[in-house]
Amino acid sequence: MTDQTHPLTLYNSLTREKEQFIPQDPKRVTMYNCGPTVYSYAHIGNARAAVVADVLFRVLRHIYGEDAVVYARNLTDIDDKIIKAATEQGVEISAITEKFAKIYQDDLKALNCLEPTEEPKATTHIPDMIMMISELIEKGHAYESDGHVFFDVSTYEAYGKLSGNTLDALRGGDRVGEGEVARKKNSADFVLWKPELDGVGWDAPFGRGRPGWHIECSAMAKATLTSQIDGDVIDIHCGGVDLKFPHHENEIAQSCCANEEAKFANYWVHNEFLNMAKPDGQSEKMSKSLGNVTLVHDLLKEWDGEVIRLALLKAHYRSELNWSEDLLRESKAQLDGWYRLVSVKQIEPDTDEGHFVIISEFITDDLSMPSALGELSAIRASLTTFTANEEDVPLHIEDRIDALIYGANLLGLLQKDPEEWFKGNASSDDQAEFDAIALRRQEARAAKDWAAADAARDEAMAKGIVLEDGPDGTSWRKA
Ligand code: AMP
Ligand code: ZN
Repeated sequence: MTDQTHPLTLYNSLTREKEQFIPQDPKRVTMYNCGPTVYSYAHIGNARAAVVADVLFRVLRHIYGEDAVVYARNLTDIDDKIIKAATEQGVEISAITEKFAKIYQDDLKALNCLEPTEEPKATTHIPDMIMMISELIEKGHAYESDGHVFFDVSTYEAYGKLSGNTLDALRGGDRVGEGEVARKKNSADFVLWKPELDGVGWDAPFGRGRPGWHIECSAMAKATLTSQIDGDVIDIHCGGVDLKFPHHENEIAQSCCANEEAKFANYWVHNEFLNMAKPDGQSEKMSKSLGNVTLVHDLLKEWDGEVIRLALLKAHYRSELNWSEDLLRESKAQLDGWYRLVSVKQIEPDTDEGHFVIISEFITDDLSMPSALGELSAIRASLTTFTANEEDVPLHIEDRIDALIYGANLLGLLQKDPEEWFKGNASSDDQAEFDAIALRRQEARAAKDWAAADAARDEAMAKGIVLEDGPDGTSWRKA
């Protein structure tokens, strides 16, 4: 375990208070995050949830050690929407889910998200789900009805505690109607198992069928996390605020009743929404159903993943974040400044523990990213008189640059070689062309042919490239 000058505090949605984070076992810290349903491209709101969890994962690894943190993020690869898409396209569901799981993993990698320790797929944990459902039936918390199995919310007194939805309020909507509602004892009961759809199903004691969404996470958290520790309570559960109810509420009910524990997770960490502006000047949650999504996959064609990541870190995770091009432009300019500064020295992961104190006060305070980023900007600002072309970097300045690298690295930023950064993702043909323009200017300058030197610079500008003259000749970078 490393620096504990500023102990980690987290806002716990369950208690609605900021609390000091105390893991059950500092040698085995467990964290679960609800992953995507893999049938389409992830949007930048989905990425916000993943990046917030990634920062938490990085901070925990920093405090408790890299091998001490077990982070599970699942892939929901069985779902009605997936089955319908597969039927329409006449393909196996795995043809869809494997394609989009890979795209999701690549997108997050581009945003510098570390791979989770465990990435369970729902389809490989069906026996765990069947076992948990059987236990819930045996213990009187679930019942079979017309090929379905429902969780009986009236058997779980604490139902609604996380989201504040009291059972009385939920019961208010009790009625007997069509379809699922007609099969339930209480309208708030939720489905654990349903009959097969379009031939997709698994054999189970309660009939061939497929799992409900909520049971997937309870079973996968148990299989990947609590199987590694004593007891059945995980340390941290994360996800977007939209998942608090019903998804997380239902996960709690299932896990607590099946495992006979008072809690499912000790800390619940929920990120707020990423919003998109509306034509009337207001903003609303980015979501597929509203049709206002910007895909990570598309953004990555134009922006470096680190720019997108920094833009996502610009608001506190518990505040809404209004997404815009300006946010991306501002983040790019900020990273350019940082990379220009670090380009004077070999960029290597900085391991001097002393540098953690620079941002630890902020990052450990409920992951206050804006304050931590503000501190890094302050370091950058304190060095404005220093130019990248200076040959000897005074020690105290180098030390401050190291602190900037250290803090940025902890947030998953400044992970590239500065040269690679400034060259952007130009194709090799483009690179060869830009190298040639830079060389033309270098030779023109050597021959004191200023008109030719200016012409080369203008040509570069027109192609979105900046030429920089230095002691080693002329180099180029993306504007
Ligand atoms: P989904 O695939 O819709 O279950 O979402 C995956 C993750 O992204 C969940 O943690 C959601 O809460 C989160 N999420 C979805 N939309 C947004 C949004 N607009 N802003 C922030 N998080 C979101
Ligand atoms: Zn979940």
